[in-house]
Amino acid sequence: MGRCAWLLIALTRQAWAGVWSSSPAPCHDDESCKARLDTITSKLDELRDEMRGKHLTLQALEEIRGGILSGRRVELPSAQRQHLEKGSPLISEVTFDARHRPVSTNVSRHFQSQRVIAPNLDVRHHAFLTLKRSTPGAAKTSVPALLVIVDAESKLSIYSLDNEPLLDKFDLGHGAGRSIVQLEMSPTQENHFIVTVDDDGNIRVHNIKIVAKKQKAEGGKDKDEAEEEPKAKGKDPKEARTLNVTASLASSFTLSPGALEEARKLTVVLPIERGSQTFFVAGDSLGGLSVFFRNGTMRGRVRVTEDPGGVKGLVRGQGQQQVLFYSSHAFGFFSPSQVDLQYAPCTGWNSPLVDLAMEPGYSTGRVLLALQDGDVLVYATTRGKSKACDLALKFPHVSVLPFKLHSFRGHVMALPTPPDDMEKKDEYVREIFFFNVAAMENGYGSSPSRAITLQASFKPKQPENLALLGQPTAGAGAQGGGGDKAKSQIAIRFKDMRGVEVFDLTLRTPPPPKAAQAEGGGSSNGWDFSSIMSWFPKIGVFGIALIGVIFWNIKKVTGGGGGGGGATDLPTDDFDEELFKEKLRERRAKPGSTTGVVPVKIEVSGSRLTSALQSTMSCKCYAALVPAGPLVPHTIERRAVGPDDVAIDIKYAGICHSDVHQAREEWGSAIFPMVPGHEIGGFVTAVGPNVTSFKVGDKVGVGCMVDSCRECQSCKEGDENYCATGAVMTYNGKYKYKHCLEYTEDGGKPTYGGYAQSIVVDKNYVCRIPDNLDLAGATPLLCAGITVYSPMAYNGLKAGQKLGVAGLGGLGAMAVMIGKAWGCEVTVLSRSEGKRDEAMKELKADKFVVMSNDSDVEAAASSLDMIIDTIAAKHDIPTYLSFLRQNGKFVMVGVPAEPLDFHAFSIIPKRKTITGSLIGGIRETQEMLDFCGKHNIICPHELISGDKISESYDRVVKSDVKYRFVIDTSTF
Ligand SMILES: [Zn+2]
Ligand SMILES: [Zn+2]
Repeated sequence: MGRCAWLLIALTRQAWAGVWSSSPAPCHDDESCKARLDTITSKLDELRDEMRGKHLTLQALEEIRGGILSGRRVELPSAQRQHLEKGSPLISEVTFDARHRPVSTNVSRHFQSQRVIAPNLDVRHHAFLTLKRSTPGAAKTSVPALLVIVDAESKLSIYSLDNEPLLDKFDLGHGAGRSIVQLEMSPTQENHFIVTVDDDGNIRVHNIKIVAKKQKAEGGKDKDEAEEEPKAKGKDPKEARTLNVTASLASSFTLSPGALEEARKLTVVLPIERGSQTFFVAGDSLGGLSVFFRNGTMRGRVRVTEDPGGVKGLVRGQGQQQVLFYSSHAFGFFSPSQVDLQYAPCTGWNSPLVDLAMEPGYSTGRVLLALQDGDVLVYATTRGKSKACDLALKFPHVSVLPFKLHSFRGHVMALPTPPDDMEKKDEYVREIFFFNVAAMENGYGSSPSRAITLQASFKPKQPENLALLGQPTAGAGAQGGGGDKAKSQIAIRFKDMRGVEVFDLTLRTPPPPKAAQAEGGGSSNGWDFSSIMSWFPKIGVFGIALIGVIFWNIKKVTGGGGGGGGATDLPTDDFDEELFKEKLRERRAKPGSTTGVVPVKIEVSGSRLTSALQSTMSCKCYAALVPAGPLVPHTIERRAVGPDDVAIDIKYAGICHSDVHQAREEWGSAIFPMVPGHEIGGFVTAVGPNVTSFKVGDKVGVGCMVDSCRECQSCKEGDENYCATGAVMTYNGKYKYKHCLEYTEDGGKPTYGGYAQSIVVDKNYVCRIPDNLDLAGATPLLCAGITVYSPMAYNGLKAGQKLGVAGLGGLGAMAVMIGKAWGCEVTVLSRSEGKRDEAMKELKADKFVVMSNDSDVEAAASSLDMIIDTIAAKHDIPTYLSFLRQNGKFVMVGVPAEPLDFHAFSIIPKRKTITGSLIGGIRETQEMLDFCGKHNIICPHELISGDKISESYDRVVKSDVKYRFVIDTSTF
């Protein structure tokens, strides 16, 4: 309020100044005084009008502010929006379409309403039933399809597209009180059938028979024809036919209930055709996929996911990749004939998945994922001939609601759909977005993105569900590239309205990215590409350079100041082409980069791109605010992404025992607030212009160090961990080297670790995590893994040698697994018999020695080539040394509080070595990760949420964890 009042006063003063200055002379007589008064009153009228305008502006601002605070989308008339944007670039950040302004919002141009079908029915589900085209040519004009409707009473009705009822309220037999939750159509036009699923998990399959009859009017008897053909209304009376549609139950079945305590609930069913056989694939709440024959007998069941909620959806694939399933955090290909997964499922996103669709058109093998937070991601599932799980594109974040996705002619149709349990869901305006995949693939410039071809609002009607008829994918039609001509129809059910409204949908297929580049000039195909032609080829190829340029541009204009609150004067739309070219030249001139720069196809929506690069980012984390204090939610700032930096979206962070020591200030004075965590796993979200080794979307990790002097012998040899002047630790350290962007005169800013949602790290201290490794399980490798790997590598451990591992915590477990993969015989030296089973069975150790058992100890004497000692408490060193053979090496990686106590004769007679090792260098860490990738090693772990960190610290101290706690940062 204070600000508003101030603004009013300021405006008033200005206005009064205007009034006085325009007529400075005082009046003397009646006439001049009257004239003077008139001037004043007319000026006041003007002022009043102006104030009214300002008042409207203030109101609009207040509304936007309210919308932001409540997470609600506020719609402003475009004139008002432009007016606001002119005054404040801030507004363009919050009204998303400043950058992702739809190319068109002209609904009537693209949607021609035909009619409302079944206007009396309370429709719950609807779908098109495509008919066989028996007579070529005739089918061109009328779309050969019927509309199938299931109403609130669970009755089936089938209508022609002329709104002629062909089957009226057929009882599907689900029984009274049951409601139908899913309607699926037969995959081909050979045999028509429909599948319905009710809320009790019953699946019923009905055959639909459609027979065309010649009308009696023609004079003869009814004559059944073999195949259907919809009535071509008024076209040729001789050819007039009528359709006879009947439904009959084919089969009915349900899932077996499963074991007693686990209630297996059906979540989704998909009919598929393989050769002449029909199968039904059913997903359930326990993550299982079952395959049924057409008669309802089960062929088999396999569990494909352990995600909560189980299988959430099924999508029909193509060819060998017959069925795509998805759960909240994974999707994968399922073979119904083998009743098994074909490859490891793809994972790697944070917010739960709510819908999935195959990509339309020109490039196959990609799937679109709609996440609960409104994001849409595109994953490539193939790379060349091999399988992949690569993040390829990210859609503009235009909705706070999750999308339901449909593929349509080079576009993705997305309908924001509130989750069932959402409060006030009716307040959201639901519009259909058409995302142009080609435009996105080409990249975004500083001009509006063109990623949204059409944003269709049907206000005040709210679309609730839709069905599409026509070629869903460009080029898949018989006419090849001419698929544009095929007519499409869309049937939309609107909220609180009866029936289904059918529209003709005209939308051209955008040219694929390559064709667009080759074509060059603008095309007159309805969408004007000429303005983006000059842009996109460059941007598509030089994505990385562009990111850098935008960053530098902003820095340049704002005088190099990264931080500060001066967001209002950032000229994000002023693109300095000279600078862009200069940066490109620089990049091309660089030795070793023959192609100039690495092409990037990742999209970061405009506002995110700049916010990620232009300034510091605030980031949620868990921190100890005082020594030994609890770990509590906190917010820190991450630096702006510098030219050599990699910004990482942290997904997981491991809890290392040393986190506990430091947060409790047990290792000497520490820096607070402290954000611990040096086992970090996540995905790259932005890179600086000098970074070529990483790109957005890469799966990466950060370990114990984020910087070092880079000049000493150790650093030059890749042993940054032994840097002569000390490496900069990932947390509880300071950016003390001048080359770092966070260096300050007084010793550098403090470092904050991985219990956070993001981090910005110099590229030389980032490692790549192999694709096949589970990210959560791979994060502990960054400290626990390298700590035991490094001494094995440095001390020349060979395959076939005998390795001892003392202590079976996180480090010990990693040492056993890595030692086994190394080809060694591994003996666990433990103080408790209780760990025998887990050591031998779970970790696959070869031998187990209980230190308190004299015969065990005797039997193991002089048998080992190397011992990795991970014990952090006081223990009897001479006994452990007695296990070593001649030339044996005893490597200490655990740190007992007390000094060691042993006699020289325990090492002299057999030339034994006692040595130590501290984590490992960056190059070695990468080597270790690759080794673990090759041998499929991850750390067994317990995933915890942020609020459990303090509790888990106590359990770490008690060694009550197998073998690592890993924090899921999405819970912050
Ligand atoms: Zn550690
Ligand atoms: Zn150094």
